[in-house]
Parts: sequence; C-alpha cells; structure tokens
Amino acid sequence: MKGVSTIIRVVVCGAAGRMGSEVVRTVSREDGMELVGAVDRHNLGVDVGVLAGVGPLGVMVSDDLEGVLVSTQPDVMVDFTTPTSVAANARTALRAGVRPVIGTTGMDPNDLADLGRLSAELRVGTVVAPNFAIGAVLMMKFAEMAAKFFPAVEIIELHHDQKLDAPSGTALRTAEKISLARGDYRQNTRSAVATLEGVRGGCYDGGIRIHSVRLPGLVAHQEVIFGGLGQTLTLRHDSISRESFMHGVVLAIHRVMGLEEMVVGLENLIFE
Ligand code: NAD
Repeated sequence: MKGVSTIIRVVVCGAAGRMGSEVVRTVSREDGMELVGAVDRHNLGVDVGVLAGVGPLGVMVSDDLEGVLVSTQPDVMVDFTTPTSVAANARTALRAGVRPVIGTTGMDPNDLADLGRLSAELRVGTVVAPNFAIGAVLMMKFAEMAAKFFPAVEIIELHHDQKLDAPSGTALRTAEKISLARGDYRQNTRSAVATLEGVRGGCYDGGIRIHSVRLPGLVAHQEVIFGGLGQTLTLRHDSISRESFMHGVVLAIHRVMGLEEMVVGLENLIFE
C-alpha cells in the first residue's frame, strides 16, 4: 500500500460522468489533495479539467485504469461509474495498493462482500457509500429511529431519468436499516428485492415497498413515509445539485487513508 503522504493523490474513475466531473472540480480545488489521474470510457485523451469546466489540469482521460494506477501512484481511487464496472475497478485498485472510495450504486452484494474480504486481507482501506450527502445520511438515521414506533412504511425515491439502477442504493440502504431496527431483516442479498410488475421499484424484507420515480429535472430525492394509527410521519431529503455529495466524498477520501478494511456507509465514518 502507498505511504500516507501529506498531499493525497487521487484518481477519479468515471471522470467524464456527472458525478466524476463534480469530483474532478472538487478535488482540483481542495487543499491537501491532488488530482493525478482520470479514467473513463469516453473523452479519451481530453484534459479532464477542461471537461469539468475548471480549465486545463494536465490530466488526460485514459481508459486504462491499471496503467494509470501504475504511472500515477495514487493514494485513493474515487469510483463513480456503473453497477457492472465498479467491482472490477475496485479489485484493480486494491491489488495495486490503492484505497477505493466508491459512490457507484447497484453493486452486486456478493461483489461487495468479496471486496470487503479483499480489502481486509490486503489491509487496504475501502469506503463504500450509497449516498455521500449528509442530509440523506441523517434521513436514514431518523428512519431507523422511527421504525421502532411505526411498523408500516413505504419509500418513494425519485431520481433523474439516466439513472441505471432501481431501486436506488439509498432506498435499499434505508429499507435495510428499517428492517434491522424492526427485527425482520433476513439477508442483505439482491434476492430480498423483488421487482413488482408494472411499476419501477421493489419490495424489501418485512414487505417494505420501494417506489422508484425516474424523470428529467430530478437529481436525487427520497421520502420515507411511516403510517400509524391516525397519523403519518414523512421524512424527506432532496439533493438539488451534485455539490451536495462533495463534502462526504472529501471526508471519505481523508478517512480512507487511515483504514485497513472496508467501511460501508458514510454514517459509519461520521457517527462513530
Ligand atoms: P454517469 O453515467 O454520468 O457517469 C458514469 C461514467 O462512468 C461515464 O462517464 C462512463 O463512461 C464511465 N464508465 C463506465 N464504465 C467505466 C469503467 N469501466 N471505467 C471507467 N469509467 C467508466 O453516471 P453518474 O450520474 O455520474 O452516476 C455514477 C454512479 O454514481 C451511479 O451508480 C449513481 O447511482 C451513483 N451516485 C452515487 C451517489 C452517492 O452519493 N454515492 C450520488 C450520485 C450518484
């Protein structure tokens, strides 16, 4: 594993995407961090700073993650790619001694468990967070508290229409926390999520219904609605811009430097 230097060297995987561009802008402006590499399948050879609108950074987009890790010797790889690419990217990083900070959602639970084992075995820290926005993390925490008092609950998650996975990682994580708090959690596997015919969404352990709305104009939003005798309780969080995730990403980049295993959920870095 790379030594802990004062300046954290960061590679962004998925650097040409919506979240990746936001991370490029953030890391390039952040004291104590340096953007040293950018990986994507698109915009190859283009200066990633120009792509992200912050002017040339001298870091060109490459599609060769392994080559970039070898040539730039980063401390951390931030991944905002796709459900089908993320696990392989993280394995490549871990084997190169580079700490993954993963924001990509929709990863297969078996891959997640496998990454956890690899991270611990190699003693290279990993952070996986389905939502880096502090407001969303608090919403999940409050939902966990309310779950003990309101047995009936449904989740409505609303995202932009380009999102690949449904239900969202945040909705699944919220359902998992509610289910754990109520004591009807069975297993954290995708088989616990059944897609309901005719709608986009799913049904989690304990019968928690998740409704997934996909529309242009949205970023990332979620309502958790609890129903009880003569009353309802609604928790709602809105990410109205992708900047909402950046404080959490920066925090995770700093914190992963001190980890030797995988931590799942930003809450496990901020509510210890
Ligand atoms: P996007 O489609 O805009 O960007 C994904 C980028 O990854 C694309 O540029 C694509 O070319 C690139 N890519 C695909 N496979 C790749 C590979 N193997 N190597 C390198 N690059 C590759 O998507 P987005 O809106 O930026 O979202 C990315 C992910 O982040 C999604 O899974 C989304 O759900 C998740 N997300 C997480 C959070 C969070 O807080 N954790 C917040 C928002 C979005």
